[in-house]
Amino acid sequence: MTIPSRDSYDTIVAGAGPAGVLAAYHAAKRGSVLLVDASTLPRDKSCGGMIHELTRDALAPYGAIPDDIVLEPRFVNFRYHDWDRKVLKPTKLAFLNVDRAGFDAWLVSLLPANVEVVGGTALTGFTQDAGGVHVTLDSGGTEYALSCENLVGADGARSAVRRVLGVDAGRTYVTLQDYVELSGEIEPFFDCIYVRSLGDEFGYGYVMPKGRLAIVGSVFYPKTKRPWEKQDRLLEILRAELPQLGASVKREACAALYLRTPADVVPGFGRVLLAGEAGGFMSPTSGEGISYAVRSGILAGRAIADNRPADVLGAYTGTTAALRHDIARRLRWLPFMESRVGKFMGGLAPTWLVSRITEGL
Ligand SMILES: Cc1cc2nc3c(=O)[nH]c(=O)nc-3n(C[C@H](O)[C@H](O)[C@H](O)COP(=O)(O)OP(=O)(O)OC[C@H]3O[C@@H](n4cnc5c(N)ncnc54)[C@H](O)[C@@H]3O)c2cc1C
Repeated sequence: MTIPSRDSYDTIVAGAGPAGVLAAYHAAKRGSVLLVDASTLPRDKSCGGMIHELTRDALAPYGAIPDDIVLEPRFVNFRYHDWDRKVLKPTKLAFLNVDRAGFDAWLVSLLPANVEVVGGTALTGFTQDAGGVHVTLDSGGTEYALSCENLVGADGARSAVRRVLGVDAGRTYVTLQDYVELSGEIEPFFDCIYVRSLGDEFGYGYVMPKGRLAIVGSVFYPKTKRPWEKQDRLLEILRAELPQLGASVKREACAALYLRTPADVVPGFGRVLLAGEAGGFMSPTSGEGISYAVRSGILAGRAIADNRPADVLGAYTGTTAALRHDIARRLRWLPFMESRVGKFMGGLAPTWLVSRITEGL
């Protein structure tokens, strides 16, 4: 197992998702960086692998997304699908369809040599004082004490860094995804599916083609009991009309941030920054998180590269203002979108309007 090679770094980043990798990439311009992840690397994050145009634009300066991680069909459009009423509203919002594990591995491959990447190592705590941040890590049961000038918490929806900072950890949606075999083609859409018979705890389901497989997923509100039974039921309902959805070859469970108010988005405290989902940077309305992780990660890394350690948080708070404003705007739509009325109205609105609203949210 790889372990950190020194006991002091300019920057330590917890979490090797898109936020952490991009933060590490830019922080490396200031000096040494340690990037740790609790999972063994390369990691396998449960995700639809739908890459929004904002992500593609933000990543363009780092090189082309490799062709071998793009799955067929290469682009899929988002479609509102009211299953009970048989209402379909295809939108103009198109996503690049990637293998998420390959995408994450590609991002890690971009890192410069002065970023030390260590998997299987979790941040377990830290303190901060005028001298910097003192971090404890656990690597396979062995504890390490390290220090740094700035710490970036990019450790996702259940962020330990956020918790240690004393920021309300927030609740999380429960998500379940099945990878199912395909015995025939399904339409090239990222279908967002509303099914009333699954009850109010069921937010929505989704289906997307992924090469020779398809993902069938569900998003449940916090504290949903026995969500796997509802996911089984969703599969049953879908298969009755889409018999090409075959056996499940893999099921995964995950958590996604349940953002409620603008105050849930927190850039950090003292010498510690929060990026990506750890900081609340994601779309509360669509669940799209990669572009927010990438953009907040870039801003965190740049703030570190361009400022004295004590001034980094102020700079980061300033440069993330537009992102935080965008999230606050989406939060205003959330109560309507989550309501029965909102879900129903989606089926009544003309397709061009659903498309326009979806593109903005
Ligand atoms: C089922 C599902 C489907 C999704 N589909 C899409 C999609 O299609 N498109 C899209 O844009 N977004 C999607 N999202 C959201 C997207 O996956 C996330 O918003 C995005 O990955 C967040 O990136 P991040 O870098 O902030 O954190 P993450 O990618 O979650 O990475 C956090 C990392 O931190 C590590 N970690 C956790 N705790 C510690 C610790 N204590 N110490 C060290 N490391 C730690 C974890 O192992 C993990 O690797 C989906 C989410 C879910 C749950």
